[in-house]
Order: sequence, then structure tokens, then C-alpha cells
Amino acid sequence: MEEINCLVCKNKAQILPFGGYQYQDKIYSLYGCSFCKLRFIWPQPTSEELASTYNDLSYWQSGDFAGDKTNCELYRKQYRKDAQKIIKIAKRFNILPEKFLEIGCAQGDLLLELKSYFKSVIGVDISELMIELAKKKGLEVYAGEIEKINLPSDFTCVYLGDLVEHLPDPVSFFGHLKKIIKDKSLVIIEIPLTYNVYPANLFLAPLISLKNFLKGKIFKPRSLYFFSKTQREKNKKIEHPPYHLLEFTPRSARAFFNLISWQVVYDKVYVGWPKRKYYKLKNWHLLGLQIIFSFITKYAPLFDLGDRMTIVIRPIKK
Ligand SMILES: [Zn+2]
Repeated sequence: MEEINCLVCKNKAQILPFGGYQYQDKIYSLYGCSFCKLRFIWPQPTSEELASTYNDLSYWQSGDFAGDKTNCELYRKQYRKDAQKIIKIAKRFNILPEKFLEIGCAQGDLLLELKSYFKSVIGVDISELMIELAKKKGLEVYAGEIEKINLPSDFTCVYLGDLVEHLPDPVSFFGHLKKIIKDKSLVIIEIPLTYNVYPANLFLAPLISLKNFLKGKIFKPRSLYFFSKTQREKNKKIEHPPYHLLEFTPRSARAFFNLISWQVVYDKVYVGWPKRKYYKLKNWHLLGLQIIFSFITKYAPLFDLGDRMTIVIRPIKK
């Protein structure tokens, strides 16, 4: 078998028995680095494959806050909350409300919310489809990869919401990001932690076992590894283009930024609010527990348990 090295630390990576994607007769497996614990998809999609993924409206409709044209009104409240969170963090680190950049801005709804706070807001997205929609809102936005766009180099605050896990070359991306921000700038990042056990799952395990027992189903130890239905589905290869090229745990996320010379100045692991597509009565147990733990982890972190992470970094200049 071909030897695969970690994208970041270059140590040997092993193929994992779970995760990955299958799409158009191609298998994209999930690998784990034995040293820095980063998980990544291999082979990586080509730039043509990436372009076709993000210029396809079905991708934007599959996400929850991704900024699809048809649901943006529904999610305005979420963008407002995200904006408040960004402003709170920026104030905490004494970041002046000057030049703000969002990479992965989709159709620009978060930028609209932040326009009144920062002196200028600029957005970038790899999807030309989304950038066209953002332009119609009068925003200064650019389509493409940051390495290829001629951006100003004096940003004071950068936001990467659910972006990092989509990057094919994270080392080059963050290397370039250092060049376009000011010395004391802040980069605020949100990432999903797909394979992290979140507290709700710990309570779901006995609940689901009991439900199965009452239905006369035989107990399978495997069900203990991936407690909820969604977690179990993640155990199979997903049948769509590879969206998440990187998978983080809280530990591997911190290690990743340290390895590429960024200082983690703040981080928080939490349980996200349930996605709207799960708003169904039959999911009452899942929804109920997730809402409870979303509240708990908002105010009191539960070790490193959660399905999302906020991580704030600053460049370490050599
Ligand atoms: Zn590694």
C-alpha cells in the first residue's frame, strides 16, 4: 500500500477503518497521523473537483447556515448571533474595529451583520456562485483562493467559520494568511468536531440500548462506539463529494496551530444547537439532550466534550 505522510508534520499516517467518502466510483479514505493526530482525506480532491463541489447549489442546500439563497431569511438570527460572538471576542482582545476579512463568506450574510461595527468588511469564497449573490448585496467580495487574490495586507480581524476543515492545503493557507494581516491581528475560527463524543451521546447510549431492548433487538457492542444514528452514519463512507478534507479533535486542533506557528489565545469546546433538518418529533430524545447540553456547555465547559469548537489564534512572527 502507498505510504501516506501527514499534510502538516510529514510523519507517517495510517488509514482509518471509519470515515471518508465515496463519489463517482472514487474512494476518499480518512487517514490519521500517528504524531500530531490530524485526520485528513486522501486522495485529495483536485481543484476541478473542488470547484464543481462549491459551485453546485445542492452543497449549499445541504448545510444549515451555509447561506443558500432560499433559506437565508430563516438563518438571519444565526448570523446575528455569530456577529455578536465575533464582536465580543474582538473586544476582549482589544482589536480595533478596523479591517475585517471573512474567508468562506458564502453569500455574505455575516458580513452584512458586521458592516456597522467594522470600518470595512471584505469577503472571499471559493464559490463563484455564492460570490455573485454576495455582490448583489453591495459587498466587497472576491471569488477564489486567498493565495491567488490580490488582497490588502492590513486586516485586523479575520473570521473562518466552518472553513478550515474544507482546506486542501491548510499549511499553505495559513502561511499566506500571515502575510495579509497585521502583527497583533486576531483570527477567529469555528470548526465542527465530527468524531468527538459529545455529552448528549453519553446519555443517548443507554437510552438507545433500552429502546432497542424493548423492541426485542439484540444488543450489539458496536452501537456503543457510535451512539446516535448520525454518529453511526458517519461510520460508513458518505456518498457525496468529499466536503470535510480535515477532521479535528480539540487536541489535534490545538496541536495543528502550534505546529504551523500560530499561538492559540483562546479556545472553547461546546455542543452546538441542533440543526434545523433534525427538527422532527421522532428525534425528540436527540433534540432534547442536544439542547440541554448546548446550554450547559455554553456556560460551563465539560472537559473537551462537544461537537464544535471556537479557537482564536494569533501569528507567532519569527
Ligand atoms: Zn501529523
